[in-house]
Amino acid sequence: MNSPASGSADLTRLSAAAMAAAMADGSASAEEIARAHLARIADVDGELNAFLHVSEDDALATARDVDARRAAGEELHPLAGVPVAVKDVVVTAGMPTTAGSRILEGWIPPYDATLVERLRAARMPILGKTNMDEFAMGSSTETSAYGPTRNPWDTDRIPGGSGGGSSAAVAAFEAPLAIGTDTGGSIRQPGAVTGTVGMKPTYGSVSRYGLIAMASSLDQAGPVTRTVEDAALLHEVIGGHDVRDSTSLDGGFASFTEAARLRDVKGLRIGVIEELEGEGFAPEVRARFTESLALLEQAGAEIVRVSCPNFRYALGAYYLIMPSEASSNLAKFDGMRFGLRVVPEDHPTAESVMKATRGQGFGAEVKRRILLGTYALSAGYYDAYYGSAQKVRTLVQRDFAAAFESVDVMASPTAPTVAFRVGEKVDDPMAMYMNDIATIPANLAGTPGISIPSGLAEDGLPAGIQFLAPAQADDRLYRVGGALEALLEDSWGGPFLDRAPELKGAGK
Ligand code: GLN
Repeated sequence: MNSPASGSADLTRLSAAAMAAAMADGSASAEEIARAHLARIADVDGELNAFLHVSEDDALATARDVDARRAAGEELHPLAGVPVAVKDVVVTAGMPTTAGSRILEGWIPPYDATLVERLRAARMPILGKTNMDEFAMGSSTETSAYGPTRNPWDTDRIPGGSGGGSSAAVAAFEAPLAIGTDTGGSIRQPGAVTGTVGMKPTYGSVSRYGLIAMASSLDQAGPVTRTVEDAALLHEVIGGHDVRDSTSLDGGFASFTEAARLRDVKGLRIGVIEELEGEGFAPEVRARFTESLALLEQAGAEIVRVSCPNFRYALGAYYLIMPSEASSNLAKFDGMRFGLRVVPEDHPTAESVMKATRGQGFGAEVKRRILLGTYALSAGYYDAYYGSAQKVRTLVQRDFAAAFESVDVMASPTAPTVAFRVGEKVDDPMAMYMNDIATIPANLAGTPGISIPSGLAEDGLPAGIQFLAPAQADDRLYRVGGALEALLEDSWGGPFLDRAPELKGAGK
């Protein structure tokens, strides 16, 4: 990056909570903060490709409005003026929304998702839309029709997926906060490999209204941030009941921010999942995991081992349930209603238009999953595939219930390895799917999960530790995450991302 000597460049290094404090005490304006981030995006996003769309005018208008209201003495939301980036699977009125797919190129949604309405109600400037695997299918952001996102720690590496754009943007100080979605790990695994915090809330905690659905029974939006407290703050903005989502929960959550600030794990019982720490997990990823647990134990937590024997079938069940639901959700992209329409010259019938549009509009991974899902749901195979997978889902839920009788939270490494190289696994779907081995069980059970940085592992790259809790006990994740983050920062002598190498800053 070009030397960050000016004060405005430094603003991007603050946490969201610190940005809010700077605005409250008058040491920075919302406009300065928005401009600092827009300048950072202009400087480094050419190297990263984290953003598919930058909404400069929109962000600056919101920021100026916040400054004017503050000057007039209006009482504002605590995060008013703190910028946020939104994964491109979330619809935004007047702003392009592609879900990383060619088939939605040029589509401008006529409405905001509920969570976007809530960001706007809090007067948080929206910086733009972040890159992602096409329709959130992938673990590397390489299936995006708009080119891969790069990992700020090493631009030859992937930033995880599907929400690699959100995580890379936050890790590279292009945004303090971002929205992700997690169907099988797409908030947590990118968090782990970029050294950021990723929180998948309890299913039903954040409204799905306005999310382009991948697998409706698994999808959940949540925060992507640099600190646990920031994740709690953002979760409190976007969460809460919504009549437009029939699976939305009505209350029943303790305060997330209070839990994040507690920094006390005395007496907390943490279960280490036996099935998720051995084979397939890289040695240094495991070492950082074990050290993190030792710190928590010294701080008064009780570490025990728990077994979740059915977790070994979770990946297989997920890769039947997810494509089944996706194949049906994606049927609406037919060239008639949204985005791309390909009209064959020789034979322009409704059917040929749909065929040509879907043939050209969808990428290979999306087609693979539509085929898999359609097959799994077809008469004669339904019971054998979809039916069996649903039974496994119940068994996974029972494993969680049994384990949570004796522990408050469970823990595992978030992803089996550090970030791999761009191109390394793109032609090997099974190798790609294995990235989600530790994150998928929580989606099948509808329970919350958080990933926070655990340290540097293989090749000097970030590793993550994941904590899991029972449904609606999201506060426990903020409590254990906040406490471990403080312990680790003490041992590192500062925030984790302070050790990330600087980008060149070639400009976009
Ligand atoms: N990597 C997983 C998949 O490809 C998870 C995706 C997600 O959470 N959106 O299905």
